[in-house]
Amino acid sequence: SGKWSRAVAILKEFEEKCRTPSSKLKQVADALAVEMHAGLASDGGSKLKMLISYVDNLPTGSCLERMVKVSREKNCDEKGMFYALDLGGTNFRVLRVHLGGKEGRVVKQEFEEVSIPPYLMTGSSDELFDYIASALAKFVATESDSLHVSPGRQRELGFTFSFPVKQTLISSGTLVKWTKGFTVEDTVGEDVVAELTKAMERVGLDMRVAALVNDTVGTLAGGRYNDPDVVAAVILGTGTNAAYVERAHAIPKWHGLLPKSEEMVINMEWGNFHSSHFPLTEYDQELDAGSLNPGEQIFEKMISGMYLGEVVRRVLCKMAEEAAIFGDTVPPKLKTPFILRTPNMSAMHHDTSLDLKVVATNLRDIFEISNTSLKLRKLIVELCDVVATRGARLSAAGIAGIIKKLGRDTVKDGEKQRSVVALDGGLYEHYTKFRTCMENTLRELLGEEVFRNIAVEHSNDGSGIGAALLAASHSQYI
Ligand code: ADP
Ligand code: MG
Repeated sequence: SGKWSRAVAILKEFEEKCRTPSSKLKQVADALAVEMHAGLASDGGSKLKMLISYVDNLPTGSCLERMVKVSREKNCDEKGMFYALDLGGTNFRVLRVHLGGKEGRVVKQEFEEVSIPPYLMTGSSDELFDYIASALAKFVATESDSLHVSPGRQRELGFTFSFPVKQTLISSGTLVKWTKGFTVEDTVGEDVVAELTKAMERVGLDMRVAALVNDTVGTLAGGRYNDPDVVAAVILGTGTNAAYVERAHAIPKWHGLLPKSEEMVINMEWGNFHSSHFPLTEYDQELDAGSLNPGEQIFEKMISGMYLGEVVRRVLCKMAEEAAIFGDTVPPKLKTPFILRTPNMSAMHHDTSLDLKVVATNLRDIFEISNTSLKLRKLIVELCDVVATRGARLSAAGIAGIIKKLGRDTVKDGEKQRSVVALDGGLYEHYTKFRTCMENTLRELLGEEVFRNIAVEHSNDGSGIGAALLAASHSQYI
């Protein structure tokens, strides 16, 4: 019927606008490398903040072994125990990591995951940090007796805070802005370490924040600790971001002393990347206009877990309005922003049943839509594929841009220089089709020969462990 062909036409038009041929992705990768240069040249020089992390030395096993030894000599029952706190999007995690043995290995790790009630994401700073500090205090209370720190010694914490922060020291930083649905206005411009420290004092927890790190920086540290060839880390979770190791003298905006290592980890804040080559559609524009941060985080809004499902919902809504795919009226639930979450989109996308029953169940449970035809369910799977493919291919272009900036996008005289990118985040971890597409696209963009020396590794929990390792290497006791 005319209505059905209208629905197909809407999908085709959307698909066409979302196209990401290699040529376009190479332009995106080139544009990213150019913006990286600009962001390193001056503050405000680019939409990419290219934040200096003050991590100039990624901890290796041997440096931590030394640290644990020194610390033991000074204090006989110190067990090399460090805490980490990871505040990302919807969940936060508290971790306890024990370092020891030969080569300062992680001998034990324990963690707990706590969800952040939505009202705290838009409330006051004190309330948010009190909640975090109390959860941490509860976790500390589960330490076994043999592990207690000695009297007079403070516990130390690596604080992974996955929002843009301007640092001048490893152990402090002011919040530039919130992203990913947080709008706690009175935290903006404040030192988040001071906020956390005050909250810990209020709940009676004696702990020192030894390192404040972005999750990408934590993942980079955790990744490098396991594999010395790790040069960059990318997060694909609720939001998206990347960090990499830059040569210190390639950072013109940095006027501090050059570190001994001559290296510096840069937190790109790539979620805010913007390029005229982006395959943006009317749906993206409307999503952005209705978001908490219009005009910002445009790259993130095309590729990360917070938004993929929402793009799908918006296209479905248009099909319902203009092609009556769900009957004469638009199902009310379909009009609710963010009601379709990316894990549900992923479940529909991966539905392998002949009658697409996972699609049917999700439509029923989320939108209260029943009696859909198989033909329509197939169209919906195709729509999920378009949105996920665009996101995955753009993510690959981002990684290719970093590889290019590092000069690792060519093979020099058969030189075998391995480059490893550590990846983490719920989207990467669980959305198989997204991950596969991203990895294939990276090969497509870099070419077979270069790709042979590139590895993408899942750094499981890297950000938390990495933060604990950085707390250890910045301990006040060494
Ligand atoms: P955060 O980014 O908040 O630190 P995670 O890295 O755990 O947290 O990522 C969580 C995000 O990952 C979710 O918001 C969701 O978008 C995405 N995600 C989780 N599970 C799935 C899944 N099964 N399929 C697709 N995306 C998923
Ligand atoms: Mg995270």
